[in-house]
Amino acid sequence: MAHVRDLTQLPKAHLHLHFTGSMRPSTLLELADKYGVHLPDALTSGEPPQLRATDERGWFRFQRLYDMARSCLRQPEDIQRLVREAAQEDLADGSGWLEIQVDPTSYAPRLGGLIPALEIILDAVDAASRETGLGIRVLVAANRMKHPLDARTLARLAVRYADRGIVGFGLSNDERRGLARDFDRAFAIAREGGLLAAPHGGELTGPASVRDCLDDLDASRIGHGVRAAEDPRLLRRLAERGVTCEVCPASNVALGVYEKPEDVPLRTLYDAGVPMALGADDPLLFGSRLAAQYEIARTRHGFDDAELAELARQSVRGSAAPVDVQQKLLYGIDAWLAD
Ligand SMILES: [Zn+2]
Repeated sequence: MAHVRDLTQLPKAHLHLHFTGSMRPSTLLELADKYGVHLPDALTSGEPPQLRATDERGWFRFQRLYDMARSCLRQPEDIQRLVREAAQEDLADGSGWLEIQVDPTSYAPRLGGLIPALEIILDAVDAASRETGLGIRVLVAANRMKHPLDARTLARLAVRYADRGIVGFGLSNDERRGLARDFDRAFAIAREGGLLAAPHGGELTGPASVRDCLDDLDASRIGHGVRAAEDPRLLRRLAERGVTCEVCPASNVALGVYEKPEDVPLRTLYDAGVPMALGADDPLLFGSRLAAQYEIARTRHGFDDAELAELARQSVRGSAAPVDVQQKLLYGIDAWLAD
């Protein structure tokens, strides 16, 4: 009898998780209570909110809910709790390495300024990593809606704090605003400082935005990147360069990038040899965590266990984890498959 291997036991790396978006819904309710914040029904119903980010109103609504959740993180202890719980959730889902993404600018007003906010975040990551045993690193992400000069400031800061657990530099928020090229200097600073470049692209807009990330930002990973599936030449380029796409199927469906989980082009990317790292993006708002993304690959796209193991390997190889951590995880993946 063939047995069904448990996907929460499959070792993997989690490379696309946003800071506030990683929060447990129950923790959000408690923090809102603590600070007397009135949450909109969309955040208290226990069901993931209905969002359609493919139009600008939907994206605005998504950002508003996100800001509302972020406003409940006010003290260092809240930040510590958030990261510790994110690590616990990740471990329960078989993650052996987590790269969490944060724009410290958005926490600065409540945590005493940009540098104190970053230090509180990095301290919390370090503490959670030691407490739970999960390797956790940070991607500092600039906000596309802000001025490119702000992104440069952040890139310099990220480089300066690289030895405190920062491994990469990202770019998030609405792809339809501005050009990747506007942020090329910030990314140059980050890359020269030894950080990997991992901007969002190919989510809300098509293959051109992924090309821009490669051409203008020299990206070595792409947040999402799924829309590259619409351009076979681009897929070949991603495969040849070994650029890992951080694919988040549940997020894509929740935000209306694709209608159904079956429509997320996992097969297209996989068959083209584009490395992927499945991620949860914002489980607080999308209602599912890391292992659920692998479930989608299994149940909706027919990935067999050998292919699921290969997806997990791709996530590990695409990570910034040190070689010994990668080897241990790869060994664990082989053991999962052999069992
Ligand atoms: Zn994202």
